[in-house]
Amino acid sequence: MKLWGDYLRNGCPVCDGSSIERGAWKIPLKPLDNLGQVGGVSLPYAATLDAPLLFQFDQCKACGSVFGNPIPRFQAHTAADAARHAEINAVESYRFRFAQFRQHYPIQHGAFLDAACGAGEFLDLAASEDGSRWTRLIGIDLCQAYVDNIRAGAWRHKGIVADLDEADVGNLIGGPVAFCVLNEAFEHLKHPAQVVDKLTAVLSPNGRIFFSAQLLGSELPIRPSESVYVTNRGLDLVLSRAGLTLVKRWDQCGRALVVAEKLTTTS
Ligand SMILES: [Zn+2]
Repeated sequence: MKLWGDYLRNGCPVCDGSSIERGAWKIPLKPLDNLGQVGGVSLPYAATLDAPLLFQFDQCKACGSVFGNPIPRFQAHTAADAARHAEINAVESYRFRFAQFRQHYPIQHGAFLDAACGAGEFLDLAASEDGSRWTRLIGIDLCQAYVDNIRAGAWRHKGIVADLDEADVGNLIGGPVAFCVLNEAFEHLKHPAQVVDKLTAVLSPNGRIFFSAQLLGSELPIRPSESVYVTNRGLDLVLSRAGLTLVKRWDQCGRALVVAEKLTTTS
């Protein structure tokens, strides 16, 4: 049976380990011409036994993380779905998570970057709740419609359309940031650990990053729409390779939520 996806990862996206068990999980899928609704979520496939394709997950032998391989090269369905929702700024539904990570802001003030900003909910909350501590509020997203909206919105945030896997983030934002958010995005990236490295590189000394990641072995099943599942070992490796030290980790609804600080070298 044919595999879904056309981009083949040649190693673990969490730890870069090259020793992987191919096809550890396979899920039969039927691609849909239009996005289908499953439990209120728009998906480009239906999981059915009447399926012409298989979505395959590999498992890393070094860190145990599980990841879709191959995956669709372009997350066109993600961008299309986002475009349909770009008018909806669901700021109230973001308030709970915002309240959790804002307890762990860095000491210093500076720029705030939401690296997968969607409709700009966290940017709006950061502006309205903590506006005095942020010198700039910057949002990056794959979806042009989202970025158009955050530029035109009440707060006139700086918006950048970019694919984090490909982008030179430092060049795009033009200066260091004190706090960076990567919410509900890690599992949609081709190489999420490399993206965490890039985002850490744009943090100012002792700047902090908040990110979420799907946890393997949580109460939620593996789904093709979330193509990377990390282990505790994998998360430790993501932090250590980026030069981050853990500030706070908590788990919620099948996700690991992490605040970490950029280590600064003293000489
Ligand atoms: Zn790994």
